[in-house]
Amino acid sequence: MTDDLRATVRDLMPALRSDLEDLVRIQSVSADPARTGEVWRSADAVADLFRAEGFVEVDIVSADGGAPAVIARKAGPEGAPTVLLYAHHDVQPENDPADWDSPPFEPTERGERLYGRGAADDKAGIVTHLGAIRAYGDDLPVNVVMFVEGEEEVGSDTLPALLKEHQDKLRADVIVIADSGNWDIGEPALTTSLRGLVRADIEVRTLGHGVHSGMWGGLVPDAIMTLSRVISSLYDDAGNVAVEGLFQGPAADVEYPEERLRAESGAHGSVEWIGDGPVVERLWTRPALSVTGLDAPKVDGASNTLVPVARAKLSLRIAPGDTTANAVECLRRHCEAHVPWGAQLTFTVVDTGEPTRIDATGPAYDAARAAFEEAWDGVAPIDMGVGGSIPFIAEFLEAFPEASVLVTGVEDPDTRAHGANEGLHLAEFERVVLAETLLLRNLAAR
Ligand SMILES: [Zn+2]
Repeated sequence: MTDDLRATVRDLMPALRSDLEDLVRIQSVSADPARTGEVWRSADAVADLFRAEGFVEVDIVSADGGAPAVIARKAGPEGAPTVLLYAHHDVQPENDPADWDSPPFEPTERGERLYGRGAADDKAGIVTHLGAIRAYGDDLPVNVVMFVEGEEEVGSDTLPALLKEHQDKLRADVIVIADSGNWDIGEPALTTSLRGLVRADIEVRTLGHGVHSGMWGGLVPDAIMTLSRVISSLYDDAGNVAVEGLFQGPAADVEYPEERLRAESGAHGSVEWIGDGPVVERLWTRPALSVTGLDAPKVDGASNTLVPVARAKLSLRIAPGDTTANAVECLRRHCEAHVPWGAQLTFTVVDTGEPTRIDATGPAYDAARAAFEEAWDGVAPIDMGVGGSIPFIAEFLEAFPEASVLVTGVEDPDTRAHGANEGLHLAEFERVVLAETLLLRNLAAR
């Protein structure tokens, strides 16, 4: 059976690739109001693809003036489980085309990859679902609901409304979110945790107005020095986050080779890693804190004045298992406790996003792990964390608490999603399609 499906998927790849190329040629940049028509055109194209596979009730829907999503259903055998397959058809802006080695919306093969905006993120996710469905023709082993969103790259603002409005159509036993990636070429992964985010501005004030630094320096603290003390208190000497009360947990036991870290992070050769403990814990399951903006007078033209006020934006990634409410309180308390010399500190929360920890156990996960191991010729998938946040995953978990959520995807460390020269690794893409095909079979068997 596996051999049959393997051969079937192989035979399907040229047509799938051509479908993918057609989608990539549509400039569905959701962030660009001038290309709203293209976003609608890509929704139409996606709907047509699923109509051609015998899907019924193919609808293009939107909520509150949001971007169009495609919902489609195709029935499997009576009593079979229902699987919702998610992807998104909008893409990131291409930014400066001069940074690309080939035109961003003209799919181009070079070496092992197919380059183009959306070639991976996430039009390949759509085509992965299409391939798994096509492999079974009219004998789907499970009931399938397609949900292809059109505004993921601008924050999925109307996703909760869509999930609510179409809840009955979208209800499923298993939800497959194909918008993440694998650990490396030849090494599959299931994404099981994502960090959350708390952003806050801290403002430090020491004076009502600037005063002469010669007359008052030595007695009155300036705001930049004072703010610097608060900022430096946020790390210990080893570079671990020093804010007390934040949650941290263990990560999967995987090695992140030094060479790969250097290449992927872009860190300068002499720069040391901060923090201690396993690398993947520091990236996935522990908090991280950065200063991402600073308001203070510019160096050029700075006068001999004690600066009265300075401001910094703090970006705190929080570990799966923590909550934004706890993290906000811990960070606020820390900043207030560490502002020296009686300066005034104002702490303002900018925005927050909850972390996600997926329960990666149970029959759906067994089915997925077995499918992935088969598709990758005996290499078992790792439980991968993601240091960033994909808030929409939490929306699915909340809307369908009884469903098992699997986060998969086509990306690999060199995909460059969101960047110039985004590219899909073609051989790996075939394994991803095969894995999802086997997954549908395995889910039917359980
Ligand atoms: Zn995506």
